[in-house]
Amino acid sequence: MKIWFLTGSQGLYGEDTLRQVAEQSQRIAEQLPVPVEWKPVLTDAAAIRRIMLEANADDSCAGVITWMHTFSPAKMWIAGLDALRKPLLHLHTQANVELPWSSIDMDFMNLNQAAHGDREFGHIQARVGVPRKTVAGHVTDPSVGERILTWVRAATGLAEVRTLKLVRFGDNMRDVAVTEGDKVEAQLRFGVSVNTYGVNDLVEVVDAVSDADVTALVKEYAEQYTVAPELLGERNESLRYAARIELGLRGFLEAGGYKAFTTNFEDLGGLRQLPGLAVQRLMADGYGFGGEGDWKTSVLLRTLKAMTPGGTSFMEDYTYDLTPGQELILGAHMLEVCPSIAAGTPSCEIHPLGIGGREDPVRLVFDAEPGPGIVVGLADMGDRFRLVANEIDIVAPPQPLPKLPVARAVWSPRPNLRTSTESWLTAGAPHHTVLSTAVGREELTDLADMLGVELLVIDADTTTERFTKELRWNQAYYRLAQGL
Ligand code: MN
Repeated sequence: MKIWFLTGSQGLYGEDTLRQVAEQSQRIAEQLPVPVEWKPVLTDAAAIRRIMLEANADDSCAGVITWMHTFSPAKMWIAGLDALRKPLLHLHTQANVELPWSSIDMDFMNLNQAAHGDREFGHIQARVGVPRKTVAGHVTDPSVGERILTWVRAATGLAEVRTLKLVRFGDNMRDVAVTEGDKVEAQLRFGVSVNTYGVNDLVEVVDAVSDADVTALVKEYAEQYTVAPELLGERNESLRYAARIELGLRGFLEAGGYKAFTTNFEDLGGLRQLPGLAVQRLMADGYGFGGEGDWKTSVLLRTLKAMTPGGTSFMEDYTYDLTPGQELILGAHMLEVCPSIAAGTPSCEIHPLGIGGREDPVRLVFDAEPGPGIVVGLADMGDRFRLVANEIDIVAPPQPLPKLPVARAVWSPRPNLRTSTESWLTAGAPHHTVLSTAVGREELTDLADMLGVELLVIDADTTTERFTKELRWNQAYYRLAQGL
């Protein structure tokens, strides 16, 4: 994906000045933290509108950065900004860091006037009501570079979800509310298309996988993980069947162009195991996943994985340690936690699973790597989607968990368990989440702004009282913002 760099000016200054504007703008563009496609300086309404339409039409353009190097009378920008459908970042900067105090003259003043050129541009963006991120400061300032990068990551996630295809094997878990949602609204709001196949369509592909391919994949498992001896011995057939599921699932996803999927333990058709290892490894390769038919969390997982590499997994708040002053959340799932968040080499094991009523499933077992992270949930509130995020600190389990046969993460939610959970529950946020140590709150904020979706963040400064008020204000804002 590419980012375009647009510079605003006007014809009034004459060719000499515009040549300097172009040179300085190219220099700024070269100093940005990501490569950008620099476009010739814009000086009239027709060219501005045309370039915005070109940005819309170019599938490889993830977003545009604008800078008013000089004064660019903003009525020229109305039609272009009104037409723009790609993410917009307004960079408020100038060519030099320091003013040449001893030599400054009116020529210098007229060349370096982003201070008011960008204010004119800010006004028209506000007037037109364009969603945008505004970043101020010199491009050589690392914090400016980092804020531009977070926006680029969010724009990359947006581009992904706009064209994402998700396949569900079976429907949602019976009677569950929060994993439901409006798939038509999701396609309109996010772009993702969500469609269902019967699980036996997958079983056909799984059964057709060749024994030779299964043998090769089992060998790969043995190289990558600590495989339990029984899986290489008397229970080798179970490991081979897990490999068969992975190959079939991967083949099905690749053939259909799907980058996200769901399964449901209530609807396994002819599958002999609940897919565990396969789901874990597909998540590690960037696929979105949600258990129990939870397509919304699967969409969110794929989107966040597309934004930045690193540790990002499907997660479920499972159980608590309520020891006063050291409260912790133990997160896991039946099987499906992504090894991208693992500390150390995962262990490949087989254990019974009461749920699903099939043969014992193979899974990877590990603890999550300690460090700061975030959990994010996506709920359908009936009239809109709502994202809720909680900043967390993943910790090593305070004691070993020798009898827990699933991958897990243990964390302390900010600001504390009580405020975090009271806020989360008040917001009606889900039990399925995406846990990430790679995506931060600023990326999420940028993404939510690009999507026009509500985002509530629970962090070190949250109080239940203020959070509850924010929910009430948002209720009014998002209803008004949707129009009639
Ligand atoms: Mn679940």
